[in-house]
Amino acid sequence: MTRVIIFFVVVAALAAIAVWIADEPGRVVIAWGDWQLETSPAALAAAAAIFAAFGALSFQLVRWLWLGPRAIARGRQLRRQRRGYLALTQGLVSAAAGDPRGARRLARRANLLLGEPPLTLLLSAQAAQLEGEDDLAKAYFEAMLERPETEFLGLRGLLVQAHKAGDNRAALALAERAFALRPHTPWVLTTLLELQSHAGQWTEALTTLRVALRQKALEGEAGQQREAGLLLEQARAARAAGDGREAAKLAERALDAAPQFIPAILFAAGQSLALGRRSQAERMIARAWTDTPHPVLAQYFNEIHSRDDALARAKHFENLTGRNPEHPESHLLLASSALEAKLWGSARKHLQAALKERPSAGIYRRLAQLEEAEHDDREAARRWLMAASEARPDPLWVCAECGAPESDWSLACTSCGALDRMQWRQPAAPPAALEARPETAPSDSAEAPARADGAGAQAAGGNATEPA
Ligand SMILES: [Zn+2]
Repeated sequence: MTRVIIFFVVVAALAAIAVWIADEPGRVVIAWGDWQLETSPAALAAAAAIFAAFGALSFQLVRWLWLGPRAIARGRQLRRQRRGYLALTQGLVSAAAGDPRGARRLARRANLLLGEPPLTLLLSAQAAQLEGEDDLAKAYFEAMLERPETEFLGLRGLLVQAHKAGDNRAALALAERAFALRPHTPWVLTTLLELQSHAGQWTEALTTLRVALRQKALEGEAGQQREAGLLLEQARAARAAGDGREAAKLAERALDAAPQFIPAILFAAGQSLALGRRSQAERMIARAWTDTPHPVLAQYFNEIHSRDDALARAKHFENLTGRNPEHPESHLLLASSALEAKLWGSARKHLQAALKERPSAGIYRRLAQLEEAEHDDREAARRWLMAASEARPDPLWVCAECGAPESDWSLACTSCGALDRMQWRQPAAPPAALEARPETAPSDSAEAPARADGAGAQAAGGNATEPA
């Protein structure tokens, strides 16, 4: 609209000027040598205007003839590129929607239209993966490694493949390369850390962990737990290499990172004892007993006071268990001490209390031991042993991921490879009972003796009276 108005204004102004020139009287004379032109100003203005218009048109014509073919080709290329990008986008959508055939077809089309392999390699690889053609996908990912703009993406694809195939060595090499390219990417850091931990590269893993903590790829308790776990593994390696002092130092650093980390407490106390630092070990045990009593700590405590006279020993044991008097481990420690001193009544009292808190096969076995030692009653002992065979096992290291029991703690579960998942607890059910009666649900230890011989239900029900 504005342009139309401007056009009319310009035309009106030009007309007014033309009329004014035509109305004004006068003549124009141009003389050049013998040649002379005489005309009116209006005619001269009109001639000049026509000449200018003709010049402009000729210039446009020459320009069009000169540039035309190139412009046409360029337009065609742009349209082709647009169709290529459309095919690429649709292909990525197909891949995301799980349509491998569509993705493959569109990848081929995009590749043809765009003629730029880096752009379509990812789509081709994804389509091959969806179709289960892992070798083909691998070839595409490897081709992506050749170009700097797709190298990182190719590494990621190959890493996922290596992970799926369980090839940790190849995965580690790829993760190291990805780390060199982009050291601050969270998934690179967590993957590299996991692979280094599985490969037992404790020092390298600790270095990676520090970067991961700085980049907040791993945070809070999980970060501290992993640091403590790695330091403890390093300590175990030092002990295995015969360097007890270094092992003790590393265990202390693990405790600095996570003061409540039971495996580190056990290791540090054991190492102190091995180096002859008895009072240091005793302090550690006492500190830990308040929150996390543990049979291994009880065993160390026993060792420390093995040469005490009976009275002093009893005093030390009372002091320690007084920090957590109701815990089954406290009762068990006092019971074993009483059994050794042949104080049968006290032993029975503490075993009953422990059984009430947490029934387990070990407690039933000790009750059997007590029966034989006190009354030489083989029949009663046999019944307690029967109950033990059906009871839940004593606590041990159990993988929280797959449930596999282990005799010792380790950072990675030896069954499923999960990291940081070993917990000190009772396994879910007695394996023997499960094998014997697969049709029943995991038996609760409280009823085990009743099924065993039909007489010990009350005994195992938590009262721990002598089986009839
Ligand atoms: Zn596991």
